[in-house]
Amino acid sequence: MASISEFDVDEKGRPRGVAEIVTDQGTRIYMVPVETFPNHINNLYVVVGPDHKLLVDVGSNRCNDEIDSQFAELRAAFGVDFGPEDMDEVLISHAHIDHFGNAHRFARAGIDLTIHELDARVLIEFEERLVLASRDLGIYLLRAGMREEHVRAVVDRYQSGKDWFKPVEPDRRVRNGDKLGPGWPLLHVPGHCPGLVCMAVDDVILTTDHLLTRITPTQAPQWITPYMGVENYIRSLRKLRDWGTWSLGLGAHEAPIADVHLRVDETVDHHYGRLKKTHVACEEPSTIVDVSRALFGTQTGYNVQLALNEAGAHVEMLHNLGYLRIDNLNEVAADLQAPGKYVQTSRPLVDDR
Ligand SMILES: [Zn+2]
Ligand SMILES: [Zn+2]
Repeated sequence: MASISEFDVDEKGRPRGVAEIVTDQGTRIYMVPVETFPNHINNLYVVVGPDHKLLVDVGSNRCNDEIDSQFAELRAAFGVDFGPEDMDEVLISHAHIDHFGNAHRFARAGIDLTIHELDARVLIEFEERLVLASRDLGIYLLRAGMREEHVRAVVDRYQSGKDWFKPVEPDRRVRNGDKLGPGWPLLHVPGHCPGLVCMAVDDVILTTDHLLTRITPTQAPQWITPYMGVENYIRSLRKLRDWGTWSLGLGAHEAPIADVHLRVDETVDHHYGRLKKTHVACEEPSTIVDVSRALFGTQTGYNVQLALNEAGAHVEMLHNLGYLRIDNLNEVAADLQAPGKYVQTSRPLVDDR
C-alpha cells in the first residue's frame, strides 16, 4: 500500500505544504503545491525513478519563487538532492494555463517537454488557440442566447490573455498507452481538456484534473472544442475505473484521493444528476441561457460563462442522445445565430450509468 507523509493544508483543506508519497514498489513521488493564480492552488508532482526524475506540470510563471522555496522544503524535510532544474523530463498533463504556463523556465534549462499530441498545438500556436477558441466560444454564446454586447466582452477578456505565454515547442508528443521513465503508463482521458493524460506509478495514479477530491472539473461542450463535452468526460471516467486499482489518487488540485473508484462513481453520479435536472429544465422550450439559470441561478462575472459552458455541455449530451430536440427549427433555419430552444423528445430519459 502506498503511504503519504503529513502535510499542511489551508482553511479550505487544500495542500500548502510538500509531501512525500511512497508507492507499494518503493517509488517516491513528491507533492509540490504552488499558488498559480490568486487563491488558485496547483499540485505539481516529482516522480523519482531509477535514473529518471519526472516533473508533472509546471504551474504558471507567477509561481517561480514558490517552486524554489517548495523544492528547498523538500530538501529540508526529505533530504532530496535535486532542484527544479535537475529534472530529466516535464510532463504537461493538459493544456490549461495553470498547468503549462511556466513551461519556458524548464525548456530554457534544457529539460524535455512532453505533452499529449492533441494539446501540443496550444503550446506551439498559443495565440492562434486563443483567437480560435474565443471566436468559437463567441459563436456558441450567441447561439446559447447571450446578448451580443455581453458576448463581445467575454471574447475580449479571453483574448486579453495572449501575452501570458510565449510559444514553446514540445520535445515529445504522447498518446494513450505510451510510457514515461522506467515504464509509467499514460491513459488518455479527453473531456475536461482534449489531451488530458493520467499516469500510473505502481499503485498510485496521478489523476491531474480528470478526477479531484471534492470539486468536479469544469465542463464545456464539444460545440466549442472537439474532444471535450460531458459524454467524452463520462466515458473517460469509466476508462479510468476499468484501467486498474490504486491505493491512492493524486489530483492536480486539492488533497489526495483516498478511494479512486468511489470518487469516479460519485463524479459520474454528479453528472447524471445534472443531466436529469437539465432534462427537467427542458420540459418547456429553453435556450441554454434559460437552462443555465434553471441549474445555477443568476451568475455574475466569469461565472456566467462557466455556468453557460456547464449547462451547454449537458444540453449537448442530451441532444446528441436524442432526449432533446430543437423546438424553434424555422427560426434556426432562417438565422444562423438564432438561439436554439431545446425541448424534451418523447424518448424517456434512461439512467444507464
Ligand atoms: Zn484543467
Ligand atoms: Zn487545473
